[in-house]
Amino acid sequence: MKQDFAAPDRQVAMVLDLNKCLGCHTCSVACKKLWNTDDGTGYAYWNNVETLPGKGYPARVHDPETAGRDLNGATKRGQIPDLDTGYGRAWTFRHKDVLASTGRPAPEKEWLRPVEAAQWGPNWDEDHGEGSYPQDNHYFYLPRLCNHCTHPACRDACPRGAIHKRQQDGIVLVDQDRCHGYRFCVEACPYKKVYYDHVRQVSAKCIFCMPRIEEGVAPACARQCPGRLRFVGYRDDREGPIWKLVDKWQVAIALHPEYGLGPNVFYVPPMSPPRFDARGVATDEPRIPLAYLESLFGAAAGPALAVLHAERDKAKRGESSELMDLLIAYDWQQNFKLEPQHREVLS
Ligand code: SF4
Ligand code: SF4
Ligand code: SF4
Repeated sequence: MKQDFAAPDRQVAMVLDLNKCLGCHTCSVACKKLWNTDDGTGYAYWNNVETLPGKGYPARVHDPETAGRDLNGATKRGQIPDLDTGYGRAWTFRHKDVLASTGRPAPEKEWLRPVEAAQWGPNWDEDHGEGSYPQDNHYFYLPRLCNHCTHPACRDACPRGAIHKRQQDGIVLVDQDRCHGYRFCVEACPYKKVYYDHVRQVSAKCIFCMPRIEEGVAPACARQCPGRLRFVGYRDDREGPIWKLVDKWQVAIALHPEYGLGPNVFYVPPMSPPRFDARGVATDEPRIPLAYLESLFGAAAGPALAVLHAERDKAKRGESSELMDLLIAYDWQQNFKLEPQHREVLS
């Protein structure tokens, strides 16, 4: 049943500059340690970092078949990722055994115990990428969290009314007391960012570090990021980094805009060095094909990259560039424009 929901007063948002992600996973660990250590969510990463091109996490998340939306944004039956072939189960490493027996670094996959012949897991294809060295090998990292969507599919799918968007900042939350664990939200979220806790038998997801936001402190995944690539603030704050990157410079764009949910997490797409031709000479073609970036970020990817290249060329010529200064993040505190808010009054 279609329901009407009041728009929040403000919307908190995040921008991630993919040109600066190191793939260090500090963000994932910061989130997991802080919020997500329940026994039933060992497999669940509210924040994850995937290597693309690749399968993503859970596997095939960028495949429209799993999404719960078609390419025009219309709702369809999505999929609940499988533990073995989607999320992947935890395994035990045996680096020590392998190193002690051979005296050399462990060959690929020998680090798994034989009884745990896993075929897939988070970051199974880390740093694999695509292409051939030295012509066109390429990959980049994509950190992902819940988008705190303007039109959340997870909320629309919940028959219990257990999911809501907070009035004061648009953060999407699952009420753990109302949730009955039906998992319609897991099925419906095309980004697969709601996870089922099979011990507590409820669904849970990123809370955008709501207690920190209330105190004017950036989320843990953003604050701990050594790459200084995450920006946090409110969509309507024209003095803040979000408005400047999303609306003024239009270099921060949504992941899978075709799903029509209005994500509030945005990405500065990755620039890449040129492909080489057969003689090893640089061509005009980028290593990461534009068509691939468009499959993730839609038609806005090309114009965003054009602005980035133009501003980077200006900076190379010694001219000033507000955009490059902002993205370089000389002072990490400038990445965050938040202030303490009044606490939500619970009825
Ligand atoms: Fe809901 Fe998924 Fe959007 Fe997060 S990303 S608000 S879980 S639909
Ligand atoms: Fe985790 Fe907070 Fe980042 Fe959400 S905003 S992914 S809860 S650290
Ligand atoms: Fe990338 Fe920052 Fe996460 Fe490291 S902490 S993986 S640099 S987003």
